[in-house]
Amino acid sequence: MVGTRRCVGTGLFLRDNHGPGDIRSCEAEYLADTFAQKAALLASTVHPASRDSVTLTDTLNRPLRDLRISVTDRCNFRCVYCMPKEVFGPDYAFLGRDEILTFEEITRLAQVFVAHGVGKIRLTGGEPLVRRDLHELVARLSSLPGLDLALTTNGSLLAQQAPALKKAGLTRVNVSLDSLDESVFQTMNGVGFSVARVLQGIEAAIAAGLGPVKVNMVVKRGLNDASILSMAGHFREMGCTLRFIEYMDVGHTNHWRMQEVLPAAEIVRRINAQWPLEPLAPNYPGEVAERWRYKDGRGEIGLVASVTKAFCRDCSRTRLSAEGKLYTCLFATRGHDLRSLLRDGASDEVLSSAIAGIWHRRADRYSELRSDKTSDLPKVEMSHIGG
Ligand code: SF4
Repeated sequence: MVGTRRCVGTGLFLRDNHGPGDIRSCEAEYLADTFAQKAALLASTVHPASRDSVTLTDTLNRPLRDLRISVTDRCNFRCVYCMPKEVFGPDYAFLGRDEILTFEEITRLAQVFVAHGVGKIRLTGGEPLVRRDLHELVARLSSLPGLDLALTTNGSLLAQQAPALKKAGLTRVNVSLDSLDESVFQTMNGVGFSVARVLQGIEAAIAAGLGPVKVNMVVKRGLNDASILSMAGHFREMGCTLRFIEYMDVGHTNHWRMQEVLPAAEIVRRINAQWPLEPLAPNYPGEVAERWRYKDGRGEIGLVASVTKAFCRDCSRTRLSAEGKLYTCLFATRGHDLRSLLRDGASDEVLSSAIAGIWHRRADRYSELRSDKTSDLPKVEMSHIGG
């Protein structure tokens, strides 16, 4: 029974059976109350079945399978479609060290997600390799049972870090490269970084055993679409799967226009004219990239057609930002704060209920609903949650 006396430390009402000034037990009591209330609240929104079963499903019956973890909001590139330098300039307020999740906190959350059926974790950023000692986080996560641990990088630091990442347990990498033409690539990355150094990173990843390396190319009509055939030619020789990504209205700073989107169908048409292609079945439900193989057996390409062929129906992905907010869609306008639960000492059960509650209420299908009215929504920046 809560009494009328207040704790001198917290000002909270003391329970009748507490001695005066007994702060610690008072706060602990209060926090336990809060979590009990939170657990009860979240549990009330959780489908009874989910407390027992592993697989969580959302309002469109999509299971939670993939977690993308942004380990930093910082990047050493300023790609025009993601982090335009006019916005992300020298005075931009990036997250501070104490605002971002520690490796321990990330690992703890990852364990809860894995217990909920997540089988694949992809480390992203910003640029994940600018986060110091990332291999230590990889080592922690790679000990989680049955996990496919991947990473997406701009390749700038990969040559130095590939061996340590592999040794720590990383499974594979996707490397972003938008053109082999030096001036086009330097324009797109916004910092004058060279193609050769990214190619060195890809070579180092292959040599370290982080293959099959996939290469991501964002295609913006009028900027790098003339690079499609040279990129396809280069990477079919290297045995890397090249994934063409339609230019997207991510965030609200890249001044996206539909006219600058080159549809996936047009990309396929151009390549097919040079190297005949045939469609392939997806490797698994919810696979992001549409697969096409070269009829001459020289590998395959992928098309990520979020704008012209929305794939929300099978979307099983969620994203954790560097400061511990959970976003249920790449185009979300708000995230759910898990960090405060973590730092307030919440139990795994409370974290688990919170995540279950969030996913259960998920109804996102932005790409199916995209219109000229949606592109200016205050969507979270892609650099904040990873692509
Ligand atoms: S738009 Fe959102 S819901 Fe649709 S596929 Fe992308 S992340 Fe998933």
